Amino acid sequence: MSAARGEGPVDGVLLDIDGVIATAWRPLPGVAEALAAIEASGSPRAFLTSTTSRTRADIVAALRAEGVEVDPDEVLTAAVLTAEYLQATYPGARVWVLNSDADLTPDMPGIELDAEDPEVVVLGGAGEAFSQEALSRVVELMLEGTPVVAMHRGLLWATGDGLRVDTGVYLPGLEAAGGAGITAVGKPSLTAFLAAADVLGTDPARTMMVGDDLHSDVLAAQRAGLIGVLVRTGKFRQVHLEMSVDQPDHIIDSIADLPALLARLAG
Ligand SMILES: [Mg+2]
Repeated sequence: MSAARGEGPVDGVLLDIDGVIATAWRPLPGVAEALAAIEASGSPRAFLTSTTSRTRADIVAALRAEGVEVDPDEVLTAAVLTAEYLQATYPGARVWVLNSDADLTPDMPGIELDAEDPEVVVLGGAGEAFSQEALSRVVELMLEGTPVVAMHRGLLWATGDGLRVDTGVYLPGLEAAGGAGITAVGKPSLTAFLAAADVLGTDPARTMMVGDDLHSDVLAAQRAGLIGVLVRTGKFRQVHLEMSVDQPDHIIDSIADLPALLARLAG
């Protein structure tokens, strides 16, 4: 008989950033101990984030400023994954990137940007850039046959002032109005988790994903064959858990409880 889902030792750990190790770039209690426990276990780690308000370099700088030592290579952002997808799927295409709050082009080297005459539209994070005018243009381009790629399909992010709706809230309406599907590259796309496990060099079935978003982080990771761990911090809301038929492999109160979980799974 095989072990229960999500039981047994872990070979690699993927961590969401926002709401899991930090909020507003301030480390949550227990982060240093959790990262030390992962290191002591010998498992490789990476950070898989849908954050579109900062580049990879900015994320690393913000975490280091707070004493969390991470390397740029360990941070897999939605923009980085999207750039890889564009190069594989639409090589050389002119791309219009619609993103709020940050210029993500440093994370998209080799992508030709052209907002005037794009061959592919990329939707980043929702916010002020998602104006009625801009989204109407996206629909017109879709109706003309221009493919649209979303950096992620996340529904919400947590700010200091409460929850904000994110890109995933807009996609069904755009798809219906534009008469075409939109490919989402980052979380909760299954390929995002498999690409991240590939970076770690670990078997997805022995790779843990720790997140605060039940659907985008945890259940999607489980559908990709990974071990899902939900933390009750960040955008965690009890109602999402109660409304869901599918449940996480593990639930912990916060990242501070990760060392104990890893120790229990190691047996
Ligand atoms: Mg999060």
